[in-house]
Amino acid sequence: MIRVGPAGYPPGSKGPVDAVERAAAMGFSALEVQFVRQVRMDAAKAEEAGRRARELDVALSAHAPYYINFCSSDPATRDKSLEWVMRSARLCHVLHAGPVVVHAASYSRKGPDECTAMVLDALMRCRAMMEDEGMGSVQIGLETMGKKGSWGTLEEIEEVAGTVEGVVPVLDFAHLHARGGGSLKRAQDFQQALDDVISFHKGGLHCHFSCIEFTEQGERRHLPLEARQPDYRQLMKPLREVESDVTLISETPPPEDGARAMLGMLRRKE
Ligand SMILES: [Zn+2]
Repeated sequence: MIRVGPAGYPPGSKGPVDAVERAAAMGFSALEVQFVRQVRMDAAKAEEAGRRARELDVALSAHAPYYINFCSSDPATRDKSLEWVMRSARLCHVLHAGPVVVHAASYSRKGPDECTAMVLDALMRCRAMMEDEGMGSVQIGLETMGKKGSWGTLEEIEEVAGTVEGVVPVLDFAHLHARGGGSLKRAQDFQQALDDVISFHKGGLHCHFSCIEFTEQGERRHLPLEARQPDYRQLMKPLREVESDVTLISETPPPEDGARAMLGMLRRKE
């Protein structure tokens, strides 16, 4: 099954329950809750939103704060990063949401290997704490990152996700495209990206999509799908051949339009 939905509540939503109902009414089967600036939600409302999402068959996931940096030279920032992931995970547990999507780190003047080791160590601690709190079922999703200064190439993510139980990759097509200098052009490029992830990750695939402007340094800003950077029509064939369930979260401005355009492309049979 392929699920499609927006990043963030649909416009005009009055809280999480209303957001779930609006997303379902708009024909979406997924919604990524944004904890990117603050991790806050009333527990009773979260529980109700989780229940409504299950009734309406809307798969919930969440995006953890942008400030997370497990490679920071400042130990206080590393501790806070752990706390942000844990707070996001606790709300995910109540919402029955997953994965909790994380931008793990920027290299912060460290080498990629040192940074990978730091992310690995931090996520092992996160997962141990999650198990202790009885929320081992919530997965942590490591997003492929679009800036060359950010930790999170597919290879780096493979190393961590392959080592730490409960950590999964999140394939962000726009970020891969930007970091690769416009690497997703043809259907076989998308096929390769999917194959690369499936080679080390079995089970459901969580993806982000958008069009994107990029420079030598990688990602610059997100663009609507009409920009065709990358051209998602090329994704349709390889996507239909993926055997596991796929969730596609739209991060285009505005996300609902991107999600609707994606649904339109999926319905068209070439
Ligand atoms: Zn993200």
